Amino acid sequence: MLVVMQAHATDEQVRAVCQKIEGLGYRAHPMPGAQRTAIGITGNRGEVEQSSLSEMPGVGDVIAVSKPYKLVSSEVKEDKTIIRFPNSTASIGGSELAIIAGPCGVETREQVFATAERVFRAGARFFRGGAYKPRTSPYSFQGLGEEGLKIMAEVRDAFGLLIVTEAVDHESLEKVSEYADMVQIGARNMQNFSLLKLAGRQRKPVLLKRGMSATLDEFLMAAEYVMSEGNYNVALCERGVRTFADHTRNTLDLSVVPAVQRLSHLPILVDPSHGTGKRNKVTPLSRAAVAVGCDGLIVEVHCNPEQALSDGMQSLYPDQFDELMNQVRQIAPIVGRTAPETQTVPHPATVAAR
Ligand code: PEP
Ligand code: MN
Repeated sequence: MLVVMQAHATDEQVRAVCQKIEGLGYRAHPMPGAQRTAIGITGNRGEVEQSSLSEMPGVGDVIAVSKPYKLVSSEVKEDKTIIRFPNSTASIGGSELAIIAGPCGVETREQVFATAERVFRAGARFFRGGAYKPRTSPYSFQGLGEEGLKIMAEVRDAFGLLIVTEAVDHESLEKVSEYADMVQIGARNMQNFSLLKLAGRQRKPVLLKRGMSATLDEFLMAAEYVMSEGNYNVALCERGVRTFADHTRNTLDLSVVPAVQRLSHLPILVDPSHGTGKRNKVTPLSRAAVAVGCDGLIVEVHCNPEQALSDGMQSLYPDQFDELMNQVRQIAPIVGRTAPETQTVPHPATVAAR
């Protein structure tokens, strides 16, 4: 159920409707839009008694939401969500593409700083790198844990890059939420509902990756879990799904981008690194992802991919990332977007890197 407020409804009236909804034992989710505010209702088992709400001052309409997901739906919020970050001009879902780049895993301070400097110069506004790695084998590198998060936080201080890093369980989520600017929930955890709820209860924006065999509805319902707990800053990320194809690690489903955009107001990013698993396919698929209208890219870049402790095969050399950015900058205007320009490294960063 959704309460659509009139265009001229006052904040007071919106508050009164929210209080009424909460008084009925449900949860109210006010979603301000450019034209009007809509208030999503969750926590109801069946139909919400409409008449008590539709007669309240400022209420335009009370409508049933036809989809199983509510808060992610463009029925609830027509305007696209733009995720903003404190003390930064970077955003996700705005006219500038969000470019997130960095190594698969945080290995050493030197490796992280060397890579961060290159992706920063190439134009990335966000830096990725896992401190908690979900690996297929228990004997593979599992990440540096909190020590890795501290290194990532140093990168933010040195370069002003926003930090995106994965949480794999409740314990790591608490730590990631403390150090990072955005919490990544990986493909393997897309339906870890207790983790999704916890991600919804903390305040940092969430990057939610598509499960490797998740349908679009399952993907959107996973985002609904996060939002239903009150965190509305969710970005979706297509990272490839399992198919019979064996020429790539996964099959990057770019058709999901316009499919998401028809149904949801949430931004959708594309990960061409896990989506292909092969370095030589990352730039071509990045071009395609931007052309199809995604809101940004998350790309693995390593200063020395042969020595990488995870995903070296799909990690770009920094020079290749420079070229990727050049190409993306040319394609972006065709779809009404811009790509971030190259940047010069602030002096203290060079010092910190030594
Ligand atoms: C990653 O981003 O390093 C990662 C593990 O991604 P995914 O969850 O998509 O496999
Ligand atoms: Mn990886």
